[in-house]
Amino acid sequence: MTSANPGAERPPDNPYEMAVAQFDAVADRLGLDGGLRQVLRACKREVTVRFPVRMDDGSIRVFTGYRVHHNEARGPVKGGLRFSSAVGLDEVRALAMWMTWKCAVANLPYGGAKGGVEVDPHSLSEAELERLSRRYATEIARLIGPERDIPAPDMGTDGRVMAWIMDTYSMHHGYSVPGVVTGKPVSIGGSSGRFEATGRGVLFSVQEACRHLGMPLEGATVAVQGFGNVGGVAARLLCQAGARVVAASDSRSAVYNAQALDVDAIWEHKRAGGSLADFAGSDRITNEELLALPVDILIPAALEGQVHGGNAADVKARLLVEGANGPVTPEADLVLAEKNVFVVPDIVANAGGVIVSYFEWVQDLQSFFWEESEVNQRLHRLILSSFQEVVARAEREKVRLREAAYMLAVGRVAEAVSVRGIFP
Ligand code: NAD
Repeated sequence: MTSANPGAERPPDNPYEMAVAQFDAVADRLGLDGGLRQVLRACKREVTVRFPVRMDDGSIRVFTGYRVHHNEARGPVKGGLRFSSAVGLDEVRALAMWMTWKCAVANLPYGGAKGGVEVDPHSLSEAELERLSRRYATEIARLIGPERDIPAPDMGTDGRVMAWIMDTYSMHHGYSVPGVVTGKPVSIGGSSGRFEATGRGVLFSVQEACRHLGMPLEGATVAVQGFGNVGGVAARLLCQAGARVVAASDSRSAVYNAQALDVDAIWEHKRAGGSLADFAGSDRITNEELLALPVDILIPAALEGQVHGGNAADVKARLLVEGANGPVTPEADLVLAEKNVFVVPDIVANAGGVIVSYFEWVQDLQSFFWEESEVNQRLHRLILSSFQEVVARAEREKVRLREAAYMLAVGRVAEAVSVRGIFP
């Protein structure tokens, strides 16, 4: 077996080196020629901006922001915008490259991009956050646009930030340009179903994987790590589909009920600002224990690197569906393969968010909006076809789903670069 994050047994500290190592291993398998390899290894465009923001007390602070385009051979670039004090250029480069592959697996007509600002958004007042968002949008205005680069929310940003960016861009143009960002509020051109899209895509991935494994979802036990946008929505939808969610966690605590948790009650409790630490009516376990529960399905939907070399051997689930980005380390992937755990990789399982972002952009360009049922049906079709293509590739090449997904994605982007040719 080769590594599922091919090319690296342990991830290098630098995420961009890890992304390039993954790409190199897939390029080897695909036998990509040297020139094409150089094109796909590099990010096409990288912008660093340093810009001042007036703080509420009248002082001025200078912030650093980035926007990186990895590859645009298949269409305009798409990718989130991260506000975090830990953001750096190499992280943004890696995330941009991963977006290229994620869009290609889902067969969306996009390349990959990512952006970020080095800031802890929780340290700012709402007015400071708005001024920072609008100034950053102005600094990168030359790069973004509905035909070029369409940002979306990521860690530390939300629909509110997208609304400010859309408004700032529109003010500079003199007319409304809703298609410049996705993940906007519905009142200004957002899509129905966008909020639930990633969790719903996780549900569809679980359903397909169960069908593939001949494992009934009705009555199956599920543990969900992380009860936020992805994990919370997925947990609720899985319950509605007949599964029994027996464990869930957040950053402070994890809860367990061998029969089934009352997921809707947890959802309401969290929505009201509560934490799982003060949720009544279930046993308390640790996050480590949650990962090792004897459940049928495990959904890590919190952070990267949660299932690692030190705990992968304890995983007892038959099916692991990656709601989060990168929750399983390359080393753990090998252990899970030995244990015959079926892993649906993040670039397939959590693509629901970018897929419905694509639908939002299409609706904005046409100024014609769909019912939520239509959004969900189209999402189902795309997740299904990407899952089936990845499974077929995995069976043909005798590799795991993650490698198959990367091979499919890199192959599609390489073909687009070749067909377009090298200018001039
Ligand atoms: P979120 O902030 O809404 O939720 C994250 C949840 O994880 C919260 O409940 C938080 O308390 C919990 N958490 C944090 N640290 C934890 C820990 N150590 N142990 C257990 N739980 C912990 O975030 P989200 O939007 O649900 O994103 C979760 C993951 O999914 C991230 O990796 C993100 O990049 C990825 N993702 C999100 C989307 C999307 O559309 N939201 C799309 C693709 C991928």
